[in-house]
Amino acid sequence: MSAHAVSRPLLAALLALSAAAATPAKALEAAAAKVDITPDLSTETVWLAGFGATGRRPSGVHDPLYARIVLLRAGKNMVALVGLDLLGFYINDTETLRREWARGSADKKLFVHATHTHSGPDTLGLWGPLVGVSGINRRYMARIERRIAEALDLLETQLRPVTASGAHGTLNPSGLCRDSRDPQVIDPHLGVLRLKGTDGKAVATIVNWSCHPEVLGRENRLLTADYPGALCARVEKRSGGACLFLNGVIGGLLTPDTKIENFDEALRIGTAVADAALALKTEAGGRGLSYRFERALVPVENSRYLLFLHALTGGHRLYHADRKAISSFWAWPLSLRHLFFGLSEKNRPWIETEVSLLDIGPARLLGMPAEVFPELAIGGYDGQYSFGRPVVAPEGPTRDLQAAPKGPYLRDLIKAPVPMIVGLANDELGYLVPAYDFKVRTSRTMLPRYPGHYEETNSIGPSATKILTGAAARLLKEPRP
Ligand SMILES: [Zn+2]
Repeated sequence: MSAHAVSRPLLAALLALSAAAATPAKALEAAAAKVDITPDLSTETVWLAGFGATGRRPSGVHDPLYARIVLLRAGKNMVALVGLDLLGFYINDTETLRREWARGSADKKLFVHATHTHSGPDTLGLWGPLVGVSGINRRYMARIERRIAEALDLLETQLRPVTASGAHGTLNPSGLCRDSRDPQVIDPHLGVLRLKGTDGKAVATIVNWSCHPEVLGRENRLLTADYPGALCARVEKRSGGACLFLNGVIGGLLTPDTKIENFDEALRIGTAVADAALALKTEAGGRGLSYRFERALVPVENSRYLLFLHALTGGHRLYHADRKAISSFWAWPLSLRHLFFGLSEKNRPWIETEVSLLDIGPARLLGMPAEVFPELAIGGYDGQYSFGRPVVAPEGPTRDLQAAPKGPYLRDLIKAPVPMIVGLANDELGYLVPAYDFKVRTSRTMLPRYPGHYEETNSIGPSATKILTGAAARLLKEPRP
């Protein structure tokens, strides 16, 4: 049928319909904010997390800790991205925040990331005044969760149309980040996602790069966001809007390449990464927005985690292997039973965690609830990411690379213009170690360890790796919106 045969009112209606189809039915909207979450040292007692078996009392504040928040909406679908200048944030706290903000609405999704700063308050219950005593200040936690939820409520009234553009490149890690454990695999990937309003002004910039925020070491007594603080401040100054830094695959262990632990070095690294991110030329790509996740049960295999089960139950529910819930009351009796008799495989508790997948325009963010070894993300056993260093030291404990998995690796599975792997997403289970490299002596205290193999003692166990990377692989098969 030609257009001539169509009556004028019908033609007008058809034209109106096609115009409606051409304009985005689900335009992407965004709003961003920064919430100060620095503990008030005059009224809140906190312990610095990150090093050794006990916390350090902070003597002051070098730079504020923030929750940086980007709220996105497409149609009725809403996703909040929250980046916290904290060492970690357990799944129970993520769920508390979800309840406080979403209040039961299935349309509101929350993705929480902790930058892993080693000069922030203990939020995991592992760095209190004495070994085994939690350093968490629950009043502080409740205060920041309430403030973030309030900020999200306010942002819902400030949403405005944005365009999403992104870029993906690599940054030579020399002088910025090094690998303290063989094999030498440093993830050099740098991802950027920009959200700009229709007036061309930046609403938010999301930066993804991988390295431990521990320029300031165990001698430091000042609260600081470490290099991510300097990074975000630089991006915000240069491009406007809020900057959200999402730390990537930092296990294995990627640590700052510095000779001295001071604030100048944190500034130098933060500035260098910010400038590299700002120099990437972003390209527009899509308005899609979606959040998907898979819940996974993981066995608590690490003897140390079993001994200090109460810290884990501060942020997780416990289960039997058959998915029946265990009351947190049993945390101490289980620990004592483990200490005196050892828990059999059948009697070990499991915890529930979450692997997530967030699509925003050209970017696909894989959220892993742990500190993922870079090898699991990019391989690199052939030396392509060792940046001039031998992949393994000839006399070191890691020599049998023939047992290493062949791939594809996590990053290979992310089919998007701007792939991002985000560690410490919605939970923190410690290190995710490739199974072939998980080497511990069987001991209930886990104190004896091979030189250079510290990470196993801060990992929930070897089974978690297969369970969580399997969940990631299934999620990554989902088509982008
Ligand atoms: Zn760490």
